[in-house]
Amino acid sequence: MEKNDSSQAYPMNGGDGDSSYTNNSSYQKSLSDVAMSLINEAIADMLDTQNFVRGHPFRIADLGCSVGPNTFTTVKNIINSVQHKYQTLKITPMPEFQVFFNDHATNDFNTLFKTLPADKEYFAAGVPGSFYSRLFPSSSVHVIHSSFALHWLSKVPEEVLERGSIAWNKGRVHYAGSDEEVVLAYKKQYVKDTEAFLKARAEEVVCGGLVVVLVPGRPNEVPHSECIGNVLFEVLGCCLLDMAKEGKIDEEKVDSLNIPIYYASPQELKEIVDRNGCFTIEKMKGLPRIVEPETKDHARRLAIGVRVGVEAVLKGHFEDESIDELFQSFSNRLEEQPSLYSSGGAAILFSVLRRNDK
Ligand code: SAH
Repeated sequence: MEKNDSSQAYPMNGGDGDSSYTNNSSYQKSLSDVAMSLINEAIADMLDTQNFVRGHPFRIADLGCSVGPNTFTTVKNIINSVQHKYQTLKITPMPEFQVFFNDHATNDFNTLFKTLPADKEYFAAGVPGSFYSRLFPSSSVHVIHSSFALHWLSKVPEEVLERGSIAWNKGRVHYAGSDEEVVLAYKKQYVKDTEAFLKARAEEVVCGGLVVVLVPGRPNEVPHSECIGNVLFEVLGCCLLDMAKEGKIDEEKVDSLNIPIYYASPQELKEIVDRNGCFTIEKMKGLPRIVEPETKDHARRLAIGVRVGVEAVLKGHFEDESIDELFQSFSNRLEEQPSLYSSGGAAILFSVLRRNDK
């Protein structure tokens, strides 16, 4: 088994309070709902059950599941689709279902387990650890799902932290607007991580099984600087620098903060899948962006959404009061300048990969 010592974990806020992931993941949910019908289609048309052993449990894993409730809805939908397929194909007996909920060990698994649906039709298990390494025995899982998780890199690329390196990312917290070397360092880390992800899944997924990935990214033709996620992090970085100029936080801490997220294009992902060679790309498409009106309420929700996502990264650098102040000024800036988030490219990339028999 491979070790994964150097990976960094920044799970979403746990519990069920105002700034919890549970109460601030409706954006992810609305997109997962769109993806739901695509998943049904993938299971109906692309899952190849021929090699699956009859009478053995059907195993599903959700990687980067966080605390729910989205993961429960997704899993239920996948099971319904599989049951429907088995009924249509008159495959008997209907298998029992086993579901693995994976996330970093520091994820709030207690909340996840406490809120498991009472009427669930599966055996549930938690699997702690990074999905950039092996999580399951060989050829043991039939459907792997992962949503809003694979844009997280396993770690901040080392070069961007090195003073004196041409890729040192001084004064910025992400790669948009940075020198080309910084962008390249992020991209290299993304490629390395995604290769490791596919290598591990190729071992674990049975032939004919599926890997379904939903991830924020950017359309092929949109440059990093215009991708909405990058724009938001650039604004966040500016707010932090303002606080540093006012003497409220240490500028060196801004220099050393880098958010380990990369927004890949479909083309970048496709190249890595092709190189891996163990999967056939059954589907790879961008989902339409959900456009919301430019209201103060939207700006505030967007700010909270970003906070829920990256708060764990910031906590290692700044005091709680500074983080509160940062997000207040971030939210104000989005309210004042809705053009920051209303235009620009964003793509939610939906992919279905089938394990081939190579
Ligand atoms: N899938 C859920 C949650 C997305 S939040 C949904 O769609 O609503 C992203 C989750 O991915 C977080 O809980 C984070 O801890 C997890 N994550 C990020 N990198 C990971 C890794 N390398 N291994 C396992 N989980 C990871």
